[in-house]
Order: sequence, then C-alpha cells, then structure tokens
Amino acid sequence: MKKKILVTGGAGYIGSHTTLALLEAGYNVVVLDNLCNSSVKSLQRISTLCKIAPEFIQGDIRDRTLLDRIFTSHDISAVLHFAGLKSVGESVTTPLNYYENNVSGSINLLQAMKQAGVFDLVFSSSATVYGESKVMPIREDFPTGQPTNPYGRSKLIIEQILQDMAKSEPQWCIALLRYFNPIGAHPSGMIGEDPNGLPNNLMPYISQIAIGKLKKLSVFGRDYPTPDGTGVRDYIHVQDVAEGHLCALNAIRERNGVNIWNLGTGVGYSVLEIIKAFELASGRTVPFQVIQRRSGDIAECWAAPEKAAKELGWTAKRSLPEMMSDTWRWQQKSPNGYRD
Ligand code: NAD
Ligand code: UDP
Repeated sequence: MKKKILVTGGAGYIGSHTTLALLEAGYNVVVLDNLCNSSVKSLQRISTLCKIAPEFIQGDIRDRTLLDRIFTSHDISAVLHFAGLKSVGESVTTPLNYYENNVSGSINLLQAMKQAGVFDLVFSSSATVYGESKVMPIREDFPTGQPTNPYGRSKLIIEQILQDMAKSEPQWCIALLRYFNPIGAHPSGMIGEDPNGLPNNLMPYISQIAIGKLKKLSVFGRDYPTPDGTGVRDYIHVQDVAEGHLCALNAIRERNGVNIWNLGTGVGYSVLEIIKAFELASGRTVPFQVIQRRSGDIAECWAAPEKAAKELGWTAKRSLPEMMSDTWRWQQKSPNGYRD
C-alpha cells in the first residue's frame, strides 16, 4: 500500500486543485476539511475529472482526537496544510477566531504530526508576510515585514512557530510556500474559486460582474506610485500553484529544516491591466469606478521566482490570458459556484 498525503483544507480553492494534481500524479490522498468555506462538491468533481476519489474526512484541524485517529488509521507520509480562514476584512472584526483557527489549529496539527512521527510538511503561507517591501521583486531572504491585519499576522506567527520548532527538532522537513495572488481555475471549468457572499478579491469580483451578478467594480485607488496609479500584484494561475506543491513535496524529502519558496510569476499587473485582460478573454465589459484606497493595501508586490526555479525546478507556466479565460470558463459553467 502506497503512503498517503494528508491535505488539510483540500476541498477549498487551492487545496482542491492541488488534490487533483496529487491524484493525477499517483498519490493517495486523504482530505480533511470542515467545509466552513467550501463544498464537498469540489471533491466530487475532482473524482469525475480523474476517475479517482480522494478519501474525505469532514472534520476540524482543531480536533486533536480526530487528528490522532487519522494518523493511526492511515499511513500518512506528509501533510499539505491549506486549512485556515483567509478573509482579511473578517480577520479585523473577529481576530480571535482567526488566531484560534489558523494558529491554534496549526499547533494542534503539528503536535499530532509529531506524535505520529510524520515530519514532512508543506504550509500555505502568503506574500503578505513581507509587509510593505520597498524593493521589487521580493526575494525569500528579504526580512518579513509588518502584516497589516490579523490574517497576515496569523500566517507570520505560524511561520515563526515552524522556524522555532524546526530549530529544536531537526527531523522536520518543512516548506513555507509564500503565494502571491492565485487566480484562475482548472481548464475544464469544473473546479474553481467559490467565494462566500460578496467577493473580497479582485478576480472573483470581476468575473461576477461579467456574469451579471454584480454591477460595477470599485477600483481601490488610482494614486499609487505605479505606472497607471492602480495597485500592482503578481497574479499566478492556481494550477501553477498546485504544481508548485508537488515540487515542494519532493524537494523537502532531501532538505531538513525550513525552506522558503515564493510561488509567483515574477511579473506584476495593475488593476486596470487585469480588467482589460479579462474583458479581452470574456468579450464582456467590466464597468468600474475609482474610489479611495482600501485600508491596509500596498502599492505593489511581485515575486522573485528564481529560488523556486533553481531549487524546485518549478516555474509558473500559464499566461495572463489563460488565467483570464480559465476564470471565465469556470464562472460560466458554475455561475453559482458549487451551490447549484
Ligand atoms: P479556501 O478557504 O478556499 O480553503 C481553505 C479550506 O480550509 C476551506 O475548504 C475550509 O473549509 C477549510 N478550513 C478552514 N478552517 C478549517 C479548520 N479549522 N479545519 C478544517 N478545515 C478548515 O482558501 P484557499 O484560497 O484555498 O487558501 C488555502 C490556503 O492558502 C489558506 O491557508 C490561505 O490562507 C492560503 N493563502 C491563500 C491565498 C489566496 O489568495 N487564495 C493567498 C495566500 C495564502
Ligand atoms: N482591488 C480593487 N477592487 C476590488 C478588489 C481588489 O481595486 O474590489 C485591488 C486591490 O486594491 C489590489 C488588487 O486589486 O491592488 C488585488 O487585490 P486582492 O484583494 O485580489 O488581493 P491582495 O493583493 O489584496 O491580497
């Protein structure tokens, strides 16, 4: 029997694409997800796509009894840890919830892994841990900054916990993957991002306008020191992010301690460029108005992807037009996400 990969948060946006990539690569996968921000339908669609079903356990990473049961009843070799809450705005209004879920949940998972003798971990971190870097592109050896909200701080705290733990317990092999801005969907249009309620992020907001669910985009500020005055980000296809996890999983087997890799393309696009690219891919107009800056936003942020290229043999392959057309295909096929 092949050893299994435990994927926490595997029913969610990035977790579902990674679960599919793992299954396609021949891994056995156990998904643990409490479905607080996802649907079991994503897993059903994965099974349709690759004709293999991941094993699914509905439950919470904060439930130690459940984790112990999972580790004793499955031969788990590594954990990909996606589970967590991710809404910046919500984290400001309910910070304790965020620290409890993300930080306490991660500690609980680490304790259960240690007890089970499982030391290979890939953790979903974020470019937000760099704070407001003055220098672009952002390299992994740049100092971490001051995240502007409890969500970002929860990611930074977990990173620091992992660093401390790996220093005192050298058997850990950890990847901290700092994602830039994952967008897009599987090219089949069967799985994609399905935000609850009003989207906070640019891409789902734009695609919901194009499908007629929302009226107008508010562009948060046009007075940034960027070429067109709007915020610049490193948008990366979720399929490339998923593939980055498989490469990291392989790489940590030969690398003890904590390894940090950016998952970005190395190219930044402005909000106005994204609107244009989406209009081109979809043939729809995206009406917008410029309003004041969103509090906590930074002007620009893009990755130096060379370390991941050199050490993981991974680079983002998919173009901006592909990110746009895959988002649009998913939006058209599932206008109500997984709620149909
Ligand atoms: P998502 O919300 O779609 O997926 C997270 C999954 O975790 C969901 O299925 C949710 O139900 C599950 N979950 C949450 N709390 C849980 C708990 N206590 N126990 C079990 N399951 C739980 O989010 P995503 O966009 O797929 O992000 C995955 C990870 O990547 C998150 O940790 C997020 O913070 C991180 N990340 C995401 C982005 C992004 O732009 N999407 C950027 C940087 C980092
Ligand atoms: N943005 C915007 N309007 C929106 C959502 C986002 O103008 O409704 C801008 C935001 O200011 C930033 C970029 O789009 O410059 C990406 O924002 P998103 O929330 O998607 O990701 P972030 O980089 O903030 O994590």
